[in-house]
Amino acid sequence: MPIQQLPAQLIDQIAAGEVVERPASVVKELLENSLDAGASRIELELEQGGVKLCRVRDNGIGIPRDELALALARHATSKINSLSDLEHIGSLGFRGEALPSIASVSRLRLVSRHGEDQEGWSLTTEGGDQQTASPAAHPTGTSVEVRDLFYNTPARRRFLKAERTEFGHIQKVAEKIALSRFSAALQLKHNDRVVFDLPAAADRQKQEERVARVCGRTFMEHAMYLEHERDGMRLSGWIARPTFSRSQPDLQHFFLNGRAVRDKVLGHAVRAGYRDVLYQGRHPAYVLYLEMDPALVDVNAHPSKLEVRLRDSRTVHDFVRRTVDATLAGTTAGETSGAAPAAWPPAAESGGLSAAQRGLTFYSTASAVRDQLGAYRKLMESPPIGPERELAPADSPPLGFALAHLHGAFILAQSGDGLVIVDVHAAHERITYERLKRSVSESGVQVQPLLIPHAISVTARQADLCEQHAETIAKLGLELTRGGERSITVRALPALLGSADPEALLQDVLADLEEIGKTDQVERKLDELLASMACHGSLRANRSLTTDEMNALLREMETTERSDQCNHGRPTWTVLSLQELDRLFSRGR
Ligand code: ADP
Ligand code: MG
Repeated sequence: MPIQQLPAQLIDQIAAGEVVERPASVVKELLENSLDAGASRIELELEQGGVKLCRVRDNGIGIPRDELALALARHATSKINSLSDLEHIGSLGFRGEALPSIASVSRLRLVSRHGEDQEGWSLTTEGGDQQTASPAAHPTGTSVEVRDLFYNTPARRRFLKAERTEFGHIQKVAEKIALSRFSAALQLKHNDRVVFDLPAAADRQKQEERVARVCGRTFMEHAMYLEHERDGMRLSGWIARPTFSRSQPDLQHFFLNGRAVRDKVLGHAVRAGYRDVLYQGRHPAYVLYLEMDPALVDVNAHPSKLEVRLRDSRTVHDFVRRTVDATLAGTTAGETSGAAPAAWPPAAESGGLSAAQRGLTFYSTASAVRDQLGAYRKLMESPPIGPERELAPADSPPLGFALAHLHGAFILAQSGDGLVIVDVHAAHERITYERLKRSVSESGVQVQPLLIPHAISVTARQADLCEQHAETIAKLGLELTRGGERSITVRALPALLGSADPEALLQDVLADLEEIGKTDQVERKLDELLASMACHGSLRANRSLTTDEMNALLREMETTERSDQCNHGRPTWTVLSLQELDRLFSRGR
């Protein structure tokens, strides 16, 4: 065949191969366009899993009549017009590819009324062949109707799955969009049935309702709110307590400047923040929003823009990791920390002792504490239910005073609130571990030179990496020198890791350096070691404790970071409130 220029429609269909994989990709592009148009309400209507129909209606700024045809033209966009715009991109779209690609593989109708215009205009295309514009009734905003997706590309159509599956994909996309922009109301209808109708969420309580709607109520019940700003970066959102970990990484939402991303560096940073409060193989759950200067992010790295490139990934990684870590450090038993969510469900819904009843999940919030104090006071004022009831003073410590040591394994304590039950081994393990970590970080990592330096062959690039990061690596107590172009010699290890396999350790360190430009392998190994030392050094079941010892343990829990859960992420204590005890015995009925 001679070389020839491809026809425009075929070019669009080829582009569609990248952008339009299935109905859910159409929905993503249309919803993003509506957000870019500043819509505050978006309605999404589907038929037959979106294959028959995807219609998105918004109340955004609309498209002027004389630009309607351009909206459907290839490489036409109102979002950038120079390279420097591309470097500070604030909108979700900018490639000018979505509408023409979608139009080339469907029957599309675009209806829009711009700003103050008196009337709307509509444009219909079939497989990308444009018809002329005609007047149409439409409020300010835009509707895009996509029918019969892939009707003219049977090969692609065959790849579509069952209606339920396609709808499932769409629902996920719509939920992501809903999490990404609280300011827009979003309604989803499938086959004439309303699947969800989310109002705009201006304040945190409404936002938490929306997150609970999308991620489930139990997520919200176990979530801690965080908000932290530094060096032009701002991280906010909700992270689940370690006791609510998942077996799959299926509840992880990360938004970078309002765009959902699935980024290795960011995902790793959150995970690193959960280090040593999560059981091996478990995954954290979170909904996080990172805002930073768009100039420091390259979003033009991938057609679907899921992956991004960070100009300074180490700084961002550090910031995210530290913020998550500091929030989790606030999970001190019975303590209150400012960085936690408002009571959920809201106090009004749960009434009375709600915060106190929930013990574990609720101690952390300022309003929950107010609740709790109020509840104590009420308890003190109301006449005791029976003469035998003796209330602990309202100012008793959060974990109360020890009453008994049950089966050598649990402490029973009376708090202002009810009965506190502590798993002695789990609690002591955490306390010992945090103490060991503190002593290592205060006295620094002891270095132990190897009797026989260990030469390890690596790739030239890996050897370069070792040299570049020599200083960081040395700080971890790992002494490396370059032995040759493709060889690294390990001369010293952290003393605590004396028996570690230098080669395996180095390979792990290198894998991190290659992937995210930094490493926490040595710290992680050290922590693992400290954790196992803590486990072995901790109180075992069946050693009896005196009341003084038990009270000392309770007081120590109250001041130890992360003492809400043991080193494996299991809870260390719980509380049975007086109300719950009353209910157990059907008292007051
Ligand atoms: P991009 O979003 O990358 O600019 P699209 O093909 O998705 O490319 O859209 C082309 C143009 O059509 C946009 O730049 C925008 O000006 C206009 N447009 C698309 N959808 C809407 C909408 N819902 N409201 C207003 N304008 C829209
Ligand atoms: Mg777009």
